Amino acid sequence: MPQEPRPEGQRLYMVIPCYNEEEVLPETAKRLRQKYDTLIAAGRIAKNSRILLVNDGSKDRTWEIIERLHGSDPVFSGIKLSRNRGHQNALLAGLLTAKEHADLTISMDADLQDDIGVIDKFLDEYYQNGCDVVYGVRSSRKKDTFFKRATAEGFYKFMRLMGVDIVFNHADCRLMSHRAVEGLGEFREVNLFLRGVVPLVGYKSAVATYERSERFAGESKYPLKKMLSFAFDGITSFSIKPIRLITTLGVLIFLFSFLILLYALIRWATGNTVEGWTFLIFSIWMLGGIQLLSLGVIGEYVGKIYAEAKARPKYIIETFLNED
Ligand code: UDP
Ligand code: MG
Repeated sequence: MPQEPRPEGQRLYMVIPCYNEEEVLPETAKRLRQKYDTLIAAGRIAKNSRILLVNDGSKDRTWEIIERLHGSDPVFSGIKLSRNRGHQNALLAGLLTAKEHADLTISMDADLQDDIGVIDKFLDEYYQNGCDVVYGVRSSRKKDTFFKRATAEGFYKFMRLMGVDIVFNHADCRLMSHRAVEGLGEFREVNLFLRGVVPLVGYKSAVATYERSERFAGESKYPLKKMLSFAFDGITSFSIKPIRLITTLGVLIFLFSFLILLYALIRWATGNTVEGWTFLIFSIWMLGGIQLLSLGVIGEYVGKIYAEAKARPKYIIETFLNED
């Protein structure tokens, strides 16, 4: 079914998670405000649109800056979380709060690494092509350090390998319509990995590319340790492939144990062996295989329990054609 273009001038909430961003926040606010003005002038967004800054338990003056911005300019809204809960949760808090007021949301990092110019492309896809989700994708990572680039690319590739369906080089810079955020709200799992969940929400989506720049100021809040735990969380929240690997390995080793048996019997028949070795070597391989296989089977059940515990929505209805 072709998607209808939407009328322009809808109410937008830009959601920006901020953790210890005092060095960049004033500049980010200034640039977002400029973008906001051009969008208003062009009639692309409603006058009561907002820039929503989410303070994720910062230890520096981030919240004071947000309060000041809000005090002097009602376009800025602020949320203060009671403590640091991490990027994903801060973003979710912002999106679910924005949902109560907005027709559409755009999320971006606070450090100006995502190109603000991509907002135009986002809005084009939303208004003209009727997309509900538009993923911002980094066309290149030239500005990142070699280390960041290598680890980030490794991250996306590994996630794919583990069967997690994510958009390559897409971080959390994206547009979501009101109903897409509503759908997202149905995912009540505690370990929320947005990049994996958003594609599950469905609806028509598109990709908009932009050049990723350097962090404007301050340091990355994702050191290697946090990146690794983020990747690990992402995989274990989305895939039971690691469990399947155990099962497969178990089956292979179990089958291999019969080759070992054959080999051991030949050695035994030719009198080429020590007393007891034949029995021992076969037992080791066969039992190892059976144990791994059993672990894998138990793992499958644990995986099922995990899926049940997450209680994800089984479906989201997009349209209901019905005449009473
Ligand atoms: N962030 C957050 N809570 C955290 C860590 C980071 O809200 O605990 C925010 C941070 O302020 C920024 C975004 O998440 O707006 C991305 O973080 P960062 O730029 O440090 O990550 P990188 O781009 O280096 O991967
Ligand atoms: Mg960054």
